[in-house]
Amino acid sequence: IAGLVLFPSDDIAHQVFLAFVVAGMSAGAVTTLSAYSTASLAFIGLALIPLVMQFSLLGNSIGYAMALMSALFLVMLMTTSIRLNRTISGALEMRYGWQVAEATIRRQALYDALTNLPNRRMFFDRLKQELARSQRHNHLGVVMFLDIDHFKTINDSLGHLVGDELLIAISDRLKGRIRDEDVIARLGGDEYVILISEIGGTLGEATHHAQLFAEELLTLIRSRIDIKGHHLHVTASIGITLFPLEQETPEVLLQQADTAMYQSKKEGRNCSCFFVPHMQE
Ligand code: GH3
Ligand code: MG
Repeated sequence: IAGLVLFPSDDIAHQVFLAFVVAGMSAGAVTTLSAYSTASLAFIGLALIPLVMQFSLLGNSIGYAMALMSALFLVMLMTTSIRLNRTISGALEMRYGWQVAEATIRRQALYDALTNLPNRRMFFDRLKQELARSQRHNHLGVVMFLDIDHFKTINDSLGHLVGDELLIAISDRLKGRIRDEDVIARLGGDEYVILISEIGGTLGEATHHAQLFAEELLTLIRSRIDIKGHHLHVTASIGITLFPLEQETPEVLLQQADTAMYQSKKEGRNCSCFFVPHMQE
């Protein structure tokens, strides 16, 4: 507007002064607006084109010289703005790329790729924390080891893809049943582990609740699962161990639950067993 309306027609000193002010503002716009290339280029163009026009309309040699200088300045500013914009966009893209890569690496390190459930490492971390918390607050928690019965038959008869879908469907079912503060992880194959915190204040209460919960999980798994047109009926075997009873470590707890799960397999599958020390022997 200043270039169009306020252009003083008589005094070259005022004209040059106006040109300096507008040119300075345009240069400022390059640094401030370069992240938004359209805004930056529009600002520079709209500020300088009227000046170029006004100077060339003066019809004298100083006017033409100023018009040429303003036009050159316009081109230089636009080039700078485009280059700056590319640098900024490149830096932002690189930063975004790093963030995505970091998130992916973190996911791969802590989560199972097939089911998106936490993996063994994350489970151990959470179990370690929960073990310390339960010892401090004197309440009992439970670890359950769940293994699908005869899963290989599904893989062998219907293929790995159906097997994978089944693992995902079972994960979703189990995930839907636990509270936010509990953890369900896939250790690999058809093995899942579940960590339930604060299941009871006394051993009797905790045992009772754990037993009921395991029954519920078994029922949940037993109900029909439809995958790619196949109506599947599967069962699972569960091993249960409570903590803290002695000075257990996460590794020991997992091993106890695993041992108890094998006892369930021995007892005919589709059932749950508590870990008792003589199983170890
Ligand atoms: P059991 O009743 O004794 O548990 O027998 P099972 O047939 O379920 O066999 P087991 O639990 O020992 O082995 C699980 C099988 O799961 C072994 C492997 O072929 C298969 N498996 C492991 N990982 C994957 C996977 O990511 N996808 C699929 N589809 N199958 C897997
Ligand atoms: Mg199995």
